[in-house]
Amino acid sequence: MGFSGFIKGFSGFYRNKPRIKPYPFGYYKSRASSHSYNFNADDSILPVLIVGAGPVGLVLSILLTKLGVKCAILEKSKAFSSHPQAHFINNRSMEVFRKLDGLAEEIRSSQPPVELWRKFIYCTSLTGSIIGSVDHMQPQDFEKVISPVSVAHFSQYKLSRLLLKKLEDLNFHVHRPESQEDLDSGPLKGGELLMGHECISINATDQSITATASHIVEGKYMERNIDCSILVGTDGAGSTIRNLVGIELRGEKDLQRLLSIHFFSRDLGQYLLNERPGMLFFIFNTEAIGVLVAHDLKQGEFILQVPFYPPQQNVDDFNLEICEKLIFKLVGRELLDIDVIEIKPWVMHAEVAEKFVNCDNRIILAGDAAHRFPPAGGFGMNTGIQDVHNLAWKIASVMKGIAPSSIIRTYEMERRPIAIFNTALSVQNFKAAMAVPAALGLDPSIANSVHQVINDGVASILPSGIQKAILDGIFTIGRAQLSESLLNEKNPLGSSRLAKVRRIFEEGKSLQLQFPAEDLGFRYHEGAVIPDNDSMVGVLEPPTGRRRDYIPSANPGSRLPHMDVRISSNLSSEVTVSTLDLLCGDRVEFLLIVAPLEESYQLARAAFKVAEEFKVSVKVCVLWPADSLDEFEARSKKALTPWKNYIDVVEVRKPSNPSSWWSICQMTDKGAILVRPDEHIAWCVKSGVDKDPVSEMTRVFTAILGVK
Ligand SMILES: Cc1cc2nc3c(=O)[nH]c(=O)nc-3n(C[C@H](O)[C@H](O)[C@H](O)COP(=O)(O)OP(=O)(O)OC[C@H]3O[C@@H](n4cnc5c(N)ncnc54)[C@H](O)[C@@H]3O)c2cc1C
Repeated sequence: MGFSGFIKGFSGFYRNKPRIKPYPFGYYKSRASSHSYNFNADDSILPVLIVGAGPVGLVLSILLTKLGVKCAILEKSKAFSSHPQAHFINNRSMEVFRKLDGLAEEIRSSQPPVELWRKFIYCTSLTGSIIGSVDHMQPQDFEKVISPVSVAHFSQYKLSRLLLKKLEDLNFHVHRPESQEDLDSGPLKGGELLMGHECISINATDQSITATASHIVEGKYMERNIDCSILVGTDGAGSTIRNLVGIELRGEKDLQRLLSIHFFSRDLGQYLLNERPGMLFFIFNTEAIGVLVAHDLKQGEFILQVPFYPPQQNVDDFNLEICEKLIFKLVGRELLDIDVIEIKPWVMHAEVAEKFVNCDNRIILAGDAAHRFPPAGGFGMNTGIQDVHNLAWKIASVMKGIAPSSIIRTYEMERRPIAIFNTALSVQNFKAAMAVPAALGLDPSIANSVHQVINDGVASILPSGIQKAILDGIFTIGRAQLSESLLNEKNPLGSSRLAKVRRIFEEGKSLQLQFPAEDLGFRYHEGAVIPDNDSMVGVLEPPTGRRRDYIPSANPGSRLPHMDVRISSNLSSEVTVSTLDLLCGDRVEFLLIVAPLEESYQLARAAFKVAEEFKVSVKVCVLWPADSLDEFEARSKKALTPWKNYIDVVEVRKPSNPSSWWSICQMTDKGAILVRPDEHIAWCVKSGVDKDPVSEMTRVFTAILGVK
């Protein structure tokens, strides 16, 4: 975006600011039908405009479309990037993808086999000695006890292609710059992805948000105004939307600058596939240091990450030839088929936006626009995907008149603490990634400090060539610590350093790949949930950067635990699904899980009655013990008629985990669990409701939806 565009956008927003009434304090709004704005009355106003078609924007558009909310996307690039960034998809994101018409299964079948990426390897060169290797998969990761799906290794650009295909299957039309004649200048109706359209300003009025997008048609600069009810900025780490609304980031900037070198070599891929398959290769030798990400060994697709120290170094110093030489130094030999595709600098930050929601709940940030942290541990894209999973059903509730717009505020209440936690976790992981080089006598924080001294101290007045020579000299001395004459078992210093490295691996203190406790165990403590008395149980300990097990819990705010259950009406065909599948993702629907007990049936009838009054859908799941006989259908029918939206399911216990559903949830079968459309627990009673069930359910839905 040009400078003038930014200024225009900035003043455009603030020009109208005095006219924007702040939302009343507190989460409650008087009634779902009495919003300060009318979110769904005017057909000429697009319900939701998404700015940015990265993975987060694309996932949001799919979720909203499936929930029946019309949306369109603006994307400033003319074409999708094929620079592979993210590649690790965590368990929770894969669970979200299971609900996107089989996306998780497509990823699972297209990704490289797990044997090729389960390890991180530390070596002196890709063909030289191995300092150590860490296998990140444990037997339980394959047993599907805690989740119906596993983590995946799949490049971000390939994921974006699959997401785009899903969107097109949902009748979205991608308007590329060359095919925009078919796009009229009237209001967007929803279902459009406008490539080559950069959002440059936002104008908020009492009726709507107007976003202005610039685009080039046949060499001519054009602007297009789009009126929408809600605008979601999924426009990445340098978010224009965040800047336009004046939201600050809090945290640490500029932790490290790196160059990302994207290259192909089938020769290298084949060699690693046969000799030492892995996902990440940490390479340390006297000539070069770098981290190689093997995106796909079969295709020979790699990203090399190397530290980069501007202003003494600049991107132009790393031309194709220099990058090839650097790669050869790290490989330990030349590669005849090397093909360097792209060289991209990037900066690592650890920051979270001070607000995720602004402008009377109408401008929302998600993904990297709301938080940007080190990629160590792979939480960046995953956190963004989980942001929009939290957000989509709330936007749909507002658009369908189920909840007032204040429910959007619970998105910030729930997701911002998770972003802050994941930032700390990623910083810990980044530090864990430094443990091995530090033990080898190569502390990267020293390199950063030396660089800082050159920039800030006396050396900063020296000519740039001399500054560069000083920096190069210091790096050469540092890398000398890795010489074979020093780093060997016969040299006392080398042998003590190697022993230190072995201890780091044994104690699990090097960079980990999997974080089950944080991946599946994150929990919302306030927002669209009813906290219980033991709400501190299950609170995550501060991050340590080490792998910790996930412990299932039915505490409010937690993700619903997974267990395989058999659908009773399909006993003969033995259809087994996950408890997570009991919510479909195609409508704003809550799920009440109860045992087949008279008082639980009474609670279920109360939930149906209250939900009808609140005009929200509730499905009841009657969960039968594994040894149940077949008489249950008749029993539930008798207890729940005339209500129809219920399902009887039977536990399927695994030999590796024979616990019952209620003990997995750490409660008795007299309890009940109310689950939100995003599979997080809204309310839970651990051993029966001791109040009138109708008034209890009224209290619960009033609080969750924010309706009085
Ligand atoms: C080296 C590296 C490795 C990583 N590995 C992982 C990993 O393994 N797992 C993981 O979870 N994360 C990882 N990440 C982080 C991950 O890549 C990001 O978190 C992710 O791309 C964020 O997605 P997003 O959709 O929020 O933003 P982006 O992917 O940045 O998408 C934003 C989009 O908005 C568009 N845009 C920007 N401004 C405008 C505007 N004004 N108007 C219209 N469009 C606009 C951009 O063109 C872009 O397409 C890694 C990052 C790096 C750098």
